[in-house]
Amino acid sequence: MKPNKPDTVIQLHQLRFHSYLSATDIQERVRQIGAELAEQLRGETPLYLVMLKGAFVFASDLIRATGLNGEVDFVRTSSYVGTVSSRRIKLLLPPDPELVRDRHVILIEDIVDSGYTMQHFLPELRKLRPASVTLVTLLHKPEATKVPVEIDYVGFSIPDKFVVGYGLDYNGLGRQLPAIYQLVEEMI
Ligand code: 5GP
Ligand code: MG
Repeated sequence: MKPNKPDTVIQLHQLRFHSYLSATDIQERVRQIGAELAEQLRGETPLYLVMLKGAFVFASDLIRATGLNGEVDFVRTSSYVGTVSSRRIKLLLPPDPELVRDRHVILIEDIVDSGYTMQHFLPELRKLRPASVTLVTLLHKPEATKVPVEIDYVGFSIPDKFVVGYGLDYNGLGRQLPAIYQLVEEMI
């Protein structure tokens, strides 16, 4: 057991967050997942499909951790309003069909929460006929599940509380933080 470090508290806009996953723990887990993907897709030239904006930090570390020789494309969906997930998923930037076709796609997501984003996006991706889809998410909130999603690799399963850092934002802020912070639920 590691000794618990004292919490660091940060403020973004009007909300306070306390340290939750350290940069070291995140990097260690990313290295493990990268090694497993490298084993699974040895000899392939996968397409890394990065879900913008939140997954860009995780993706840049993970892609380098796999050491696989792949291509990169970006997708953008939007569903969040403030700290609440919405059912209305918009595909703001779709994937390039020519890059997806017949490729082993490694779909990289920051967090699977309600599951609505993946429920909407995975069928759209499959229509483009990839050879396979491997879904990797840094974070998963099992208690928040509204629709089940089959996830191939989960970095960390976390409670149903809003988090920021390592690519994830609160109304635009916090993406640059190397660690992950959890919302402090204050009595008002
Ligand atoms: P879902 O559609 O599964 O509810 O949510 C997926 C998206 O909502 C994620 O890709 C992420 O952008 C956003 N999201 C879900 N939970 C959180 C959270 O705790 N913090 C932040 N910053 N974004 C979240
Ligand atoms: Mg996202």
